[in-house]
Amino acid sequence: MANARGTSFPLDRIRLLDSPFRQAQDTSVRYILSLDADRLFAPYLHEAGLVRAAEAYGNWESDGLGGHIGGHYLSGCARLYAATGNAELLAKVRAAVVILGNCQAAHGDGYVGGVPRGGDLGQELARGEVDADLFTLNGRWVPLYNLHKTLAGLLDARVFAGSGEALDIAVGLAGWWLRVSAHLADDAFEEVLHAEFGGMNEAFALLWELTGREEYLREARRFSHRALLDPLAAGQDLLDGLHANTQIPKVVGYARLAGPTHDADLAHACDIFWESVVSRRSVSIGGNSVREHFHPASDFSPMVQDPQGPETCNTYNMLKLAKLRFEAHGDAAAVDFFERATYNHILSSQHPGTGGLVYFTPMRPGHYRVYSRAQESMWCCVGSGLENHARYGELIYSRAGNDLLVNLYIPSTLDWPEYGLRVRLETGFPFSDTWPWLLPRKRR
Ligand SMILES: [Zn+2]
Repeated sequence: MANARGTSFPLDRIRLLDSPFRQAQDTSVRYILSLDADRLFAPYLHEAGLVRAAEAYGNWESDGLGGHIGGHYLSGCARLYAATGNAELLAKVRAAVVILGNCQAAHGDGYVGGVPRGGDLGQELARGEVDADLFTLNGRWVPLYNLHKTLAGLLDARVFAGSGEALDIAVGLAGWWLRVSAHLADDAFEEVLHAEFGGMNEAFALLWELTGREEYLREARRFSHRALLDPLAAGQDLLDGLHANTQIPKVVGYARLAGPTHDADLAHACDIFWESVVSRRSVSIGGNSVREHFHPASDFSPMVQDPQGPETCNTYNMLKLAKLRFEAHGDAAAVDFFERATYNHILSSQHPGTGGLVYFTPMRPGHYRVYSRAQESMWCCVGSGLENHARYGELIYSRAGNDLLVNLYIPSTLDWPEYGLRVRLETGFPFSDTWPWLLPRKRR
């Protein structure tokens, strides 16, 4: 939660001017609009027993993770709408929300999702049947990770595109989960969390912020996953060998909760994780991980040798963590990391022509990398990549009391109507070292 030290502006106050960032944002709009929503939401319609207008996409969307891209697509359309004001994107958000509402009504118990037999999963868990591995839960491929994308998409539709209907659907889905988890004792809940579950704690924390309902705060804390939180809160760095992008979203949730709950364990866990990942486990582009896992902090040789270097999803989530850290503490090092990872990893993770997105960015000398194909590749980093290029405006500016902070030299304008200000930032950075030209203009 923001404080006076680094309060961010809403994304729709910022507009990018011409630059590689603006070009990447435009390319992202073209890419996301090229996707077929009927295909993206086919898994949801299938699970709800409704008629599909088209077949689901292939790749991960048909291999057990159906619906995850649909959730990211909803987030991406909503965020890109806020960043651009493009009415076509708002129409896409509204259409997706209608489909999800119809699916939820057909299920009848609040559930909505593309997870294979996802409604049954709730009944199994409520009966005490928990069979969790790192990447499976009751025989399904990371179903809570998948459902998190749906929940996050609905919340983003509310926050970035003003959809009250999306919030209603999110409340219904959360209610379904609360009725499931009420049957789970704490040890069974911890067992469920053994399988990758995305940012469920952050989503419930955001739902609490949006509604003020305490049961969501309790559930956000219940998603803490003691196996990660307890060692971090005790000051221990046990990250070697762990699947990186399973852990980073959990800590994003800790960071969102630490301030408003004044929970010292959550705050300390965030500090230890941040210090470990940013100072001891990241390379110059701001990325981390080899083959999706944290390599030993004392040995970067796998990073240089392996074709599967930093994963884009990891940096997507580390940027969320950096932003929350800056908002909470005014920590300039968080902005330094944000800048490094934004310019060097995220901007480069998109093909400037096709809009294709990158999974791994190899650090291996002379190695190539692979870009997604719009109608075929349906990986995690395509999903997070649909959101990444909407986010360039997030932290260019912030405010500390009455002061305006310029954090990133990305050509843009800011509207600050409470002060009657419009700020225009023009710069050639990093292609030129000319000091940015700031021109605040008083209206009238
Ligand atoms: Zn990924």
